[in-house]
Amino acid sequence: MSNSSWKDQIQKKWGPHKHCPICGKAMAPDKRLCSQACNDNYISQEKKQKKKGRRNTIMMIGCLAAMILIMFVLPFASG
Ligand SMILES: [Zn+2]
Repeated sequence: MSNSSWKDQIQKKWGPHKHCPICGKAMAPDKRLCSQACNDNYISQEKKQKKKGRRNTIMMIGCLAAMILIMFVLPFASG
C-alpha cells in the first residue's frame, strides 16, 4: 500500500509547471506562454477583444444617446 497519490507521482515526474493559457501544454512556471506561435495567438486574441470592447462601448453610448433623445424630445413633440 502506498501513500502517494497519482497526483504526487505526476508532480514528481513533471516538477513545478503551469499550463499554457492558449494551447494548454505544460511549460516552465516562469514562462507566460509556451511558444512563439502561442504568443502570436495570444496577441491577436487580445487585439480582437479590444476591438470588440470598443464596439460595445460605442453601442452603449448610442443607446444612451437615443434614450436621452427620447426622454427629452418626446415630451416636447407630444406637448
Ligand atoms: Zn501554448
